[in-house]
Amino acid sequence: MKIPKVYIIGGGASGMIAAVAARRMGADVTILERNNRVGRKILATGNGRCNYTNVETSIEDYNNPSFVSYALSHFSPAKALDFFSELGIVPKVEKEGKTYPLSEQASSIVDVFLYELDHLNIEVVTDAFVSNIIRKNNYFTVQLEDGRNFDADKVIISTGGMALPKSGSDGSGYDLAKKLGHTITEVFPSIVKLKLDSPYLKHLEGIKMPTKVELIVDNQVIQKEEDDILFGNYGISGPAILDISRKANELFLSGKTPFVKLILVSQLTRPEVEKRFEYAKERPIDFALVGLVHKRYISALVKEAGIQKQNTLVKDLSNKELTKVIDLLFDWRFPVRGSKSFQDAQATAGGVSVREIDDTTMESRLVSGLYFTGEVMDIDGRCGGFNLQWAWSSGYLAGYHAATGKIYGQD
Ligand SMILES: Cc1cc2nc3c(=O)[nH]c(=O)nc-3n(C[C@H](O)[C@H](O)[C@H](O)COP(=O)(O)OP(=O)(O)OC[C@H]3O[C@@H](n4cnc5c(N)ncnc54)[C@H](O)[C@@H]3O)c2cc1C
Repeated sequence: MKIPKVYIIGGGASGMIAAVAARRMGADVTILERNNRVGRKILATGNGRCNYTNVETSIEDYNNPSFVSYALSHFSPAKALDFFSELGIVPKVEKEGKTYPLSEQASSIVDVFLYELDHLNIEVVTDAFVSNIIRKNNYFTVQLEDGRNFDADKVIISTGGMALPKSGSDGSGYDLAKKLGHTITEVFPSIVKLKLDSPYLKHLEGIKMPTKVELIVDNQVIQKEEDDILFGNYGISGPAILDISRKANELFLSGKTPFVKLILVSQLTRPEVEKRFEYAKERPIDFALVGLVHKRYISALVKEAGIQKQNTLVKDLSNKELTKVIDLLFDWRFPVRGSKSFQDAQATAGGVSVREIDDTTMESRLVSGLYFTGEVMDIDGRCGGFNLQWAWSSGYLAGYHAATGKIYGQD
């Protein structure tokens, strides 16, 4: 059998693992990377520690569970751990299954790939911006912006999404896919800070603490999280918010008004809070809140409750005012006004429509011999190692099929 020439567009997470899988199965593999080195985005992952998988991954951690199911069950997190451990990465599993290299350095992941790419004689062409892919009879011509052309039997588009565009993934892969007839679903930032509409952001800026958070739309609870939140002058971030950001952004873009609801005193019952105010009735309301909520919430909370003077004694508040303060402690809603841009996002929602991709091989259903891996597809996961796991699973399956014509896990 002729050795297939496989060209991989993009030397990021999914492109590098696709290259290794294809080469190990005997293909002649070349990576075309627009940057002057591969794996740039990986260096920024997990705050420089690279949360490279999550050992508790389930298909429900992704926007399209049925599409990711085959890849995640065949190239599972356990397979990813084996793959990286063979390359030298010792895993360190932290809370909720988040897994990092023991070295706590994202550069370790890039370094072991660099070693393996070299060891397997995989050609890496850097400073190679792919601007077009042409399908001719039974082969492809991959065209670079600078005029260079390469002929390929198989092409794997591993160009990533649009998050952190300065890392090289700025959406150019969508144009390549579109020119080959593929549909791109609406793309928007995910795992991203949310912008809030509130006059109190200046007061609240800097608050950082674990909080129960709900995403509300039309008075329905859409998602609940409990983790750190962090207020900024634009709105809110922190792990609990990053987790709800996808749905919040999606709802906002569909014309709805989603709300971030904070439950500031989730450890207490309403009668307990009422009792506290009864006990503190001789104190000014702003002082009665000290020790109950973060100091920076106090003046905003009092204003939001419609109380004119911060130092009004609790006993002098109207029933309505006191009830409103207590209501806010259990349910304070901030309207979401979109999110920060892709510059600040960790993932991209939307991308190449997965209806046009085979979920067992990642091969295009429209163009045979063309594959997609990682974030360029309309697949995104929650925060916590799920997006890199998707890069590994989809990349491995695509590389394997491009080299052998066989479905990984079925021989
Ligand atoms: C700040 C940050 C932190 C993150 N932390 C985590 C984490 O801890 N855990 C986790 O699971 N996920 C994390 N992610 C998400 C994760 O990094 C991505 O999901 C993953 O890298 C996607 O892999 P990919 O191969 O699809 O794309 P990428 O890794 O983005 O690689 C795409 C590559 O293609 C190249 N390219 C693009 N267009 C072209 C072109 N036209 N020609 C040639 N080359 C091209 C790019 O330069 C790039 O090298 C994080 C993301 C960000 C931005």
